[in-house]
Amino acid sequence: MKFDILTLFPGIIDAFANESIIGRAKKKGIIEVNAINIRDYSEDKHKRVDDYPYGAGGGMVMQVMPIYNAYQAVIKNCKKKPHVIYTTPQGKIFTQERAKELAKLDHIVILCGHYEGVDERIIEEIVDEEISIGDYVLTGGELPALILVDAISRMVEGVLDSKETMESESLYNYLLEYPQYTRPYEVLGRKVPDILLSGHEANIKKWRLEQSIKRTKEKRPDLYEKYLKSLANGENL
Ligand code: SAM
Repeated sequence: MKFDILTLFPGIIDAFANESIIGRAKKKGIIEVNAINIRDYSEDKHKRVDDYPYGAGGGMVMQVMPIYNAYQAVIKNCKKKPHVIYTTPQGKIFTQERAKELAKLDHIVILCGHYEGVDERIIEEIVDEEISIGDYVLTGGELPALILVDAISRMVEGVLDSKETMESESLYNYLLEYPQYTRPYEVLGRKVPDILLSGHEANIKKWRLEQSIKRTKEKRPDLYEKYLKSLANGENL
C-alpha cells in the first residue's frame, strides 16, 4: 500500500508518518508514505506556488502547474493510474466504511490544499474523489491527509497486531467498542467488572457484545439504526 502525498508542508507528513504504528508499518515495508513537496515542482524562479484569485476576493489560490508537475513525477513510473483524493471541506464525509474500501487499493495519491484551496482545473484534471474529514474548515489538507493515511492503513493486513483488534473496534460493524479496563483491578474506588476476570471466554464475548449494543444505542442512535439494518440484511454475525 503506497501513499503519495502532494503537499506544501512535507515536514508535517514525515513527522507523523515516522512514529508509532504507522512508523512501524513503514519500517516493516507494509505501507509506504511519501511526502512530495509541490514547491519543488514550481516553474517560477521564486518557487511561487499560489496567486490571487480571479474575480477578486480574499486569500490566495494554489496554482495548477506546480501540482500537475508533482503529480506527473509521482506517476512517471507507475503501471496503473493511482486513485487521487483531494482533501476538501466540500468532499464527502470520511467514514470507517470508506477507509475499509480504500484499504483494498494499492496506490493512493492525496492532494493537500492550503490558503483558499486549489485552482478548480487541477481538480478536474487529476482528482478522482473529494473527501472531507468533517464539517469544519482547517488551514490546510495535511491533517486530513494524515487522518486518511492513519485510518486506511489500520485496515491493511499486518499493520495492526491482530485482525481481532480491528474487528472489535468502534464503528467496524456499526457498533462502538465495549468498555476497556487494565490494571490495577481497583482504582479510585472503582473495580473491573467481575465477568472480565472469570476466564470464561464465551461469557466475556457475550457481555462485550451487550455492552457494545447498549452504548451504541445510548451514544450514537444514528449508528445503532445502521447496526439494526445491517442485522436485518444479514451483514453482521
Ligand atoms: N476555501 C475553501 C472552501 O471554502 O472550500 C477552504 C480552503 S481551506 C482554508 C484550505 C485547505 O484545507 C483545503 O484546500 C483543504 O485541502 C483543507 N481542508 C480544510 N478543511 C478540511 C476538511 N474539513 N476536510 C478536508 N480538508 C480540509
